[in-house]
Amino acid sequence: MARESRQSKSERMVAAIAQLREDYPEAKCSLDYRDAHQLLVATILSAQCTDKRVNMVTPGLFKKYRSAVEFAYCNVNELSEDIRSTGYHNQKARSIKGASLIIIDEFGGQVPQTMDQLLTLPGVGRKTANCLLGTAFGVPAVVVDTHMIRITNLLGFTNQRDPIKIESEIMKITPESDWVILTHLVIEHGRHVCIARRPQCKNCSLSDLCPSSVV
Ligand code: SF4
Repeated sequence: MARESRQSKSERMVAAIAQLREDYPEAKCSLDYRDAHQLLVATILSAQCTDKRVNMVTPGLFKKYRSAVEFAYCNVNELSEDIRSTGYHNQKARSIKGASLIIIDEFGGQVPQTMDQLLTLPGVGRKTANCLLGTAFGVPAVVVDTHMIRITNLLGFTNQRDPIKIESEIMKITPESDWVILTHLVIEHGRHVCIARRPQCKNCSLSDLCPSSVV
């Protein structure tokens, strides 16, 4: 794979995306939210936690805290109890309250729409920022999570483990219009077929494209 040209990687990527679109026509962000601030909260909660668990917590949470202002001026200990089941609840509560305060004080109550501004919010790293940019604001962005790290390596699209390097390499070989959907497709594939430590290569629609296939 080391001798493979960028062009052939790009072609394989296009073919892989086309196949995954067929396999997972409904692929999208699996967190439930109604606006950018709710997606920010849900994404912070999703660290070290399943989206399913987050989606069990957020309906009640968003009923209790109805806006960025209510999160910003809440009792952080009470918020921490409200999100306890997502794990790391004290840290997440501080991040949600702190990010909401900055959004109120510095961004006029609106979640900012640039990477640099998003990275000033506590609890927001590059992955969360890219998720917000792509999913809430329609800005082309590649989210690199554990599924993306594992599967882009298995597919030979990168040999990096560092998310920032992977993000950069994937952007170079993927049409910009597919950046956002790519992550959702790969996450679906990682959940259903290319499962960590037990990839189902025999049932994988990408096996002809994949240098790691054991079929
Ligand atoms: S062929 Fe196997 S290793 Fe490659 S993407 Fe499919 S399941 Fe994963």
